[in-house]
Amino acid sequence: MNDTATLTRPAAPTKTEHFDVLIVGAGISGVGGAYHLTKQCTGMSFVVLETQESFGGTWITHRFPGIRSDSDLYTFGYRFKPWTGAPIATAAEILSYMGEVIEENDLGRHIRYRHKIERASWSSDVALWTIEATRGDTGETVRFTTNFLWMCQGYYRHSEGYTPEWDGMANFKGRIVHPQSWPEDLDYKGKNVIVIGSGATAATIVPAMAADCAHITMLQRSPTYFRTGRNAIAIADELRALDIDETWIHEIVRRKILHDQAVFTERTFNEPETVKQELLAGVRAWLGSDYDVDTHFTPRYRPWRQRLAFIPDGDLFQGIATGRASVVTDEIERFVETGILLKSGKLLKADIIVTATGFNLNALGDIAFTIDGDPLIFADTVTYRGMMFTGVPNMAWVFGYFRASWTLRSDLVADFVCRLLNHMKRKGARKVTPALRPEDKDMPLLPWIDPESFNPGYLMRGMHLLPKRGDKPEWQHTQDYWNEKDELPAINLDDRAFVYE
Ligand SMILES: Cc1cc2nc3c(=O)[nH]c(=O)nc-3n(C[C@H](O)[C@H](O)[C@H](O)COP(=O)(O)OP(=O)(O)OC[C@H]3O[C@@H](n4cnc5c(N)ncnc54)[C@H](O)[C@@H]3O)c2cc1C
Repeated sequence: MNDTATLTRPAAPTKTEHFDVLIVGAGISGVGGAYHLTKQCTGMSFVVLETQESFGGTWITHRFPGIRSDSDLYTFGYRFKPWTGAPIATAAEILSYMGEVIEENDLGRHIRYRHKIERASWSSDVALWTIEATRGDTGETVRFTTNFLWMCQGYYRHSEGYTPEWDGMANFKGRIVHPQSWPEDLDYKGKNVIVIGSGATAATIVPAMAADCAHITMLQRSPTYFRTGRNAIAIADELRALDIDETWIHEIVRRKILHDQAVFTERTFNEPETVKQELLAGVRAWLGSDYDVDTHFTPRYRPWRQRLAFIPDGDLFQGIATGRASVVTDEIERFVETGILLKSGKLLKADIIVTATGFNLNALGDIAFTIDGDPLIFADTVTYRGMMFTGVPNMAWVFGYFRASWTLRSDLVADFVCRLLNHMKRKGARKVTPALRPEDKDMPLLPWIDPESFNPGYLMRGMHLLPKRGDKPEWQHTQDYWNEKDELPAINLDDRAFVYE
C-alpha cells in the first residue's frame, strides 16, 4: 500500500445530510436564491455550500485597488431590497448590502462556508444528487444528498485568473500580478506600473493606482468602448429630496434605467455608427481635441459586442489628462528584465506588471458530474433557456445578462426554479429533465452564444465547454431581459420540454 496516499486520502464521510435543495455558491445569485426559497417555497429544506470563507463571490474574490461595479446597483441589486447609495458601488458597499440581506432574512443559518464541492452524482434509482465537498478548515470530506441542485457558481474559476503565456515572462525582474489574486503586500508607491488590458478591470485599476504610482500605463492590443457620466441618477436624487419611500424609489429608478438601457441597446443595433460617435465624443470631452482618440479609444467592433464599462466621473480619463496615466496601443513582443518590449520596437519599463487579461471560464464550478455513473459532458447538452440542460435531471444554473445587470436574471431564474419546485411537489414528481420535443428534432444546434452578437475573450476561449443552443427562444439564453421578464414567468411547466417522472 502507498503510505503517502493513505496519509493524504481524506477520510470517507461518516454521515450524509439531506436537503430538498442544495445551492452551490454564496455570491449574489446564491444568496438571492436562498432568499427566494424562503419566501416562495416555505417549508422546503435547503443548504448553500460555498468554497470561500464568506459570502459575496465576485465581490470578495476580487480585491484589487478600486474594485467596483460597472453597472448600476439599482438593477444589480436585488429587486426586493432597495439600493440607497450611488449607482456605481465599491465591492465593500455591495458586500455590506448582501450582508444586510442575509441578516434581515436570517439566511446565515443555511450557508456553510469553506465547503468546496468536488463531485456531484445523480442516481435515477433514488432520484437524488449526491454531493461530496471538502471542508477548507478540516480537510474532511462531507456528503449531502439533495433532490434539486441549484448551480449559482457563476461562470469563471475563482481560484485563478487567465494570464496568457508571453515570451520571456520568467526574465522580468519585477512582480507580475493578476487582479484576481491581488497580493495584500503589493507596494506600488512611486513604482512604474503597466496594466495589460483595457476592459472594466483595467479601467478601474488605472485611476485607483494612478495617484500613488510614479506612472501607470494601460497597455492594450485594441481599444474598448467606455461610457462616462456622473456617478448619480438625477431621478433618484429628486425623489429622495421629496422624501419618497425607498421601496418606491428603487422600483421607479429600476424602471427608468431599464427603459433607457433598452433604448440604448436597440440603438447599438439600429444606428451603431451614431452611438459610436456619441461614445467617442464622451471620451474626447475629457481628453481634449489633441488626444489621439482614434488610436486609443476607437474599437474595431460595434458598440455592445463586448461589455461596455461605465467610467464614473471620467476618473480614468482624468488620470490620463493629468499625465499620471497613459495608454499605449501596441502588441507585446516579449517580456524583458526591465519591462515589456513591444512589436513596434518600443520598450515599456516597469517595476510591476498587472495582467488584467480576464478569466478562465468554468461552466460547472470544477465539479466532477456524473449521471447514473456516466460523466456529464456539458457540451453535449442543449440548454433550456440558459437555465436547464437536456438529459440533466433536477438541476438549474443561473447565468445572468451581459448587456444588463446579472441580478435581473438571477431574480427571474429564482422565480422559475421556485415555481418548478412547487409544481413538482403538487404533481408528486421526483424528477424533471428537459428534453427536445418532436418539433425540435431537426432544429440546428449552435454554440451557446452567437459570437456576432457578443464575443469577449473568456467566452471565445471556453465556448467548446458550454452547452449548445437551438434556434428557438426555448432552447437558448436570449440575453434579452426585456422579453424574458415576461416570458420566464409565463413558461408552461407542462410543456413537453419538461419530462417528469
Ligand atoms: C470584477 C468584476 C466586476 C463585475 N461587475 C459586474 C457589474 O457591475 N454588473 C454585472 O451585472 N456583472 C458584473 N460582473 C459579473 C459578475 O460576476 C456577476 O454579475 C455576479 O457577481 C455573479 O454572481 P454569481 O453569484 O452568479 O457568481 P459569483 O460571484 O462568481 O459567485 C459564485 C460563488 O460560487 C462559489 N463556488 C464556485 N464553485 C464552487 C464549488 N465547486 N463549491 C462551492 N462553491 C463554489 C464561488 O466561490 C463563488 O463564491 C463582474 C465580474 C467581475 C469579475
